[in-house]
Amino acid sequence: MSDIKSRRKRPSRSLSKGGVSRRPPLARVRVAVRLRPFMDEAKEPPCVRGIDSCSLEVANWRKYQETLKYQFDAFYGEKSTQQDVYVGSVQPILRHLLEGQNASVLAYGPTGAGKTHTMLGSPEQPGVIPRALMDLLQLTREESAEGRPWDISVAMSYLEIYQEKVLDLLDPASGDLVIREDCRGNILIPGLTQKPITSFSEFEQHFLPASRNRVVGATRLNQRSSRSHAVLLVKVEQRERLTPFRQREGKLYLIDLAGSEDNRRTGNQGIRLKESGAINTSLFVLGKVVDALNQGLPRIPYRDSKLTRLLQDSLGGSAHSILIANIAPERRFYQDTISALNFTARSKEVINRPFTNESLQPHALAPVKLPQKELLGPSEAKKAKGPEEESTGSPESTAAPASASQKLSLLQKLSNMDPAMLENLLSMERLLGSQGSQGIPLLNTPKRERMVLIKTVEEKNLEIERLKMKQKELEAKVLAQEALDPKEKENTPTILQPSSSCSGSVAKPLKKAVVMPLQRIQKQSESSNKIHLLKKGHKRKLESSHESEAVEKDEDYWEIQISPELLARGRKKLLHLLNEGSARDLRSLQRIGQKKAQLIVGWRELHGPFNEVEDLEQVEGISGKQVESFLKANLLSLAASQHSGPS
Ligand code: ADP
Ligand code: MG
Repeated sequence: MSDIKSRRKRPSRSLSKGGVSRRPPLARVRVAVRLRPFMDEAKEPPCVRGIDSCSLEVANWRKYQETLKYQFDAFYGEKSTQQDVYVGSVQPILRHLLEGQNASVLAYGPTGAGKTHTMLGSPEQPGVIPRALMDLLQLTREESAEGRPWDISVAMSYLEIYQEKVLDLLDPASGDLVIREDCRGNILIPGLTQKPITSFSEFEQHFLPASRNRVVGATRLNQRSSRSHAVLLVKVEQRERLTPFRQREGKLYLIDLAGSEDNRRTGNQGIRLKESGAINTSLFVLGKVVDALNQGLPRIPYRDSKLTRLLQDSLGGSAHSILIANIAPERRFYQDTISALNFTARSKEVINRPFTNESLQPHALAPVKLPQKELLGPSEAKKAKGPEEESTGSPESTAAPASASQKLSLLQKLSNMDPAMLENLLSMERLLGSQGSQGIPLLNTPKRERMVLIKTVEEKNLEIERLKMKQKELEAKVLAQEALDPKEKENTPTILQPSSSCSGSVAKPLKKAVVMPLQRIQKQSESSNKIHLLKKGHKRKLESSHESEAVEKDEDYWEIQISPELLARGRKKLLHLLNEGSARDLRSLQRIGQKKAQLIVGWRELHGPFNEVEDLEQVEGISGKQVESFLKANLLSLAASQHSGPS
């Protein structure tokens, strides 16, 4: 309290009423993130961890050698108290109310991540609202005591924005209220109940029954409370006791926002889907407004939703705003956590360091939603915990890729491991998995099995080398044959000819790829760096059969392999397009029409850039299947097109 007081500046002339500065520079919205403690009983590792008082890191389950590091104005870890959050991020802005400026505190985040706890809290752990009210009321009492220059009064309103309707919680009978702007740019809601309050108990008298009403409504109406924005407005009015009898008014908005969860994943239907749509509109626009303010853009889309229209004079301008993004550590919140962080991230950095936690078991890093082959199953997890593994437990090299290091520390010392070898081993593990090795994980297995598996890997490597040699011979043979008999081309329709002029040359390699399903390509060896002709049939058959026979027998035996490097380039290009391309650019992609392009652009604006092309699945209206076929259609054509020039 005394903190607020001591920092109170000499009141400047009124900004909101006095009309001194019509267009002050737009103020940035400060962003804090609060991670709540674990609530689930089941012991599981967190997927989020604080780094310092401003930054945190999140495991990237899609690319588990990477960690996403986010930076904010403040980060409050799971051990932070209500007092920490309040003193650190809210109390400092309250003094501006007595300078006639506006302020807002917004709690953002998925349902269950702690918005209400942060804003309201409990009798044992009061949150921002009771603390701010208590401080503010005490401050105004002191500042308006007899003999002081200003007479100060405080009034409260409490409203809810539900399905883009503004409802008065202190007078539930009144219908949808209208938001207006006066000639000075102040936002007001005619007809909204205002209760004068002089003490905290008076505040509670009005606030608690209204809150209870809202909670009762919640159980009846599909958890309405998590689908509406609860807005507590505290107005501080000051009248100068002596000439020139100035007046000023500061507004404080304390907002428990609707849940930001992805409603497509929570399976909402019917009315809830409609609610979600409305909620998303407001949150969507809020994201755009915050973004525009923080980037200093000339146009701020306040008018695009009720929530932002209401906050027009309290977000940006001379107002002081703090958005507290609440996140939860449990894995089931992972997607929502990422979206919540992307929503407001001041900076995000992908660091090539695994999300490691000294207290974690290796299996703890198993991704949640990855394709089966990339997951460590429960049995593997158990093996990973086995006592025999502890003998290998030398301190891990922090420079090595994350999960890879975790896995490989069980296989051999990382310090001795060539990165290419490491990558090779991991890809071989995937290859083995895809070739039906009954799911035996190469890494994380007992020693004896490991030796056998390592041997298999070596054999596979040799086999790949052999195949490569054969393939080269075959390419030459095919071309030679074509040179002799141009008609032969028609017998190999899966191979596209680079150009008609090539019929005369013998050794020129074929360039254009047959489009092969993505999964197949990923399953192939990753040691090559080019597009190759590869045998598709059983390997043994390849070895025993004569090459030219194979070609003539059945062209289905042949496919082109695209190297992972090319694919990676394709992915990179695609990701770049998804993140940077306009709706028009996006339409140039296969399987993306007008509607999907807009959905993608909209999602991007709301959640920030895609981390992975697979994140498209998070876009409402784009299914996992569609993403899959989208990737097949585009990744390969991008990869191949990049390779089609002169090599
Ligand atoms: P939201 O309003 O975002 O849906 P809640 O505030 O209701 O989430 O939080 C969900 C649960 O987690 C509640 O039981 C709440 O008491 C608890 N909780 C949230 N944040 C914390 C925290 N920082 N410390 C302790 N418990 C918390
Ligand atoms: Mg809540």
